[in-house]
Amino acid sequence: MTNNLNIFNELESSVRSYIRSFPTVFTKAKGSKMWDENGKEYLDFFSGAGALNYGHNEPKMKEKLVEYIMNDGITHSLDKATTAKAEFLNKFNDVILKPRNLDYKIMFPGPTGTNTVESALKIARKVTGRTDVISFTNGFHGMTIGSLSVTGNAMKRKGAGVPLTNSVTMPFDRFADEKDDFSSLDYLERFLEEGGSGVDIPAAMILETVQGEGGINAARFEWLKRVEKICKKWDIKLIIDDVQAGVGRTGTFFSFEKAGIKPDIICLSKSIGGFGLPLAITLIKPELDNWLPGEHNGTFRGNNHAFVTAAVSLEYWEDDSFEKSIEQKSEKITDFLKSLINKHPELKGEVKGRGFMQGISSPVDGLSEKVAEEAFNRGLIMETSGSDDQVFKLFPALTIEDSELEKGFKIIEESVKAAIAAQTELVAN
Ligand code: PMP
Repeated sequence: MTNNLNIFNELESSVRSYIRSFPTVFTKAKGSKMWDENGKEYLDFFSGAGALNYGHNEPKMKEKLVEYIMNDGITHSLDKATTAKAEFLNKFNDVILKPRNLDYKIMFPGPTGTNTVESALKIARKVTGRTDVISFTNGFHGMTIGSLSVTGNAMKRKGAGVPLTNSVTMPFDRFADEKDDFSSLDYLERFLEEGGSGVDIPAAMILETVQGEGGINAARFEWLKRVEKICKKWDIKLIIDDVQAGVGRTGTFFSFEKAGIKPDIICLSKSIGGFGLPLAITLIKPELDNWLPGEHNGTFRGNNHAFVTAAVSLEYWEDDSFEKSIEQKSEKITDFLKSLINKHPELKGEVKGRGFMQGISSPVDGLSEKVAEEAFNRGLIMETSGSDDQVFKLFPALTIEDSELEKGFKIIEESVKAAIAAQTELVAN
């Protein structure tokens, strides 16, 4: 069996990264499975970093998309009106917004996560006339300059090559609260109140309710509620970046539903298109939607193929059966991870996250990366998260079968054992 990676090594930029963690050439994917060119099967516990919440090539979406293309449906339309867009807007309003009593204008920025974040930062600055934005430790919001300026990771920030300005970082929930209280928010408020703090009242605060890239840190609902309260008090716009945690990943469509907050601006991308096709939306409270026509634009805002699949994907949310199945499976994931850290104290593990966004953080140098590597060798694709890759992160499709979940658990446990054995050997030598 060979993995012919020559063309990639020869021609593709050194910036390539996942190809290094998963060094094979993939050819086919269905549901929670992927196959490489040698016919080796993999269980996908990565799901395109949250872009494939409904799995690969979901049959209903695929059928609708193929039919649409065969009927010469519009592919590219900038932000012109199309039937595909109308169907998506209607469905999103009927299935997602109205039942949740949410009133938002829907903006289509460019198709990626960083595009929606940039548009959110811009509109918050425009409506408040303020320049600064408060972001939080270990937050991740994308790779363009505005998004990088509110991203915590030092290596990624350095890549900007210019000073990242007009942003202030504050501690995320439990980053610095040693007593596990809410002192980080007392600290934040003090900075806003005190004229000598050096922090100006910002246009916005931006955060993920569960930090996907920064180590699967889940904010407590009480913490989120207090952030919302602080924002209201100072008329700061609250931006929830639900690019990774949204679209069911934490168990509800939006990640903040259980916290009972109503953000001013919401960023969605990744799985909003349903099929893995690029699409992003920015939800803006109507009173804040004061863009001039064309003031923010982009060639690829109307990805009609993604509108078609997105509209189909919303059928999953028409009743509560999908939510219930996510919840049941999430409990299995939590139970498995808890038993894993109990059975393997060498991990010094801590279970992180919630819903289908969980993982284990290990302070043992390189151990989580080794677990992911061992898992890949055994046919399971899983990535690491956190500034030191200290978390191995379980990110299966929300549609995964119970039997596949169990199979994945088995592979992960074997990988943990192998990684611990390798670590013990390393220390002994
Ligand atoms: N926000 C969050 C929370 C993300 O996880 C990501 C991507 N990992 C982004 C924004 C950026 O999305 P994209 O890579 O599509 O630009």
